[in-house]
Amino acid sequence: MRRDNVIEHCAVCDCPTLYVQKDFNRTIGMAIFVTGAVVSLVLYGFDRVWQAMAVLLGCAVVDALLYKWLPEVTICYKCHSQYRQVNPNPAIAPFALGLAEKFDPLNKQADAENPAADWQGR
Ligand SMILES: [Zn+2]
Repeated sequence: MRRDNVIEHCAVCDCPTLYVQKDFNRTIGMAIFVTGAVVSLVLYGFDRVWQAMAVLLGCAVVDALLYKWLPEVTICYKCHSQYRQVNPNPAIAPFALGLAEKFDPLNKQADAENPAADWQGR
């Protein structure tokens, strides 16, 4: 990992199941979305339809630019360790909800029937 700067498995828990996503603060992303929606609705309420649509379009442009410019972060499904400034590994796929459920099931009762929890040896 240090020689090639490529993540193949988690350095903390040795889990080989990782995913990549854009490195962006979700709170800021939600704030942009909510602000755009509220401003647009207020403008729409005052019959300023074109300005309301312009605000929505502006939010879409900001979202597209952020998606293009932001780097990616590699994250471990099991321990949520994050790896930044590493070379991309094409073997690592984007986030998959089914895999995340394997490592962090919604029903955490020890005796709950959870076929996705086979990784724990239950
Ligand atoms: Zn890990």
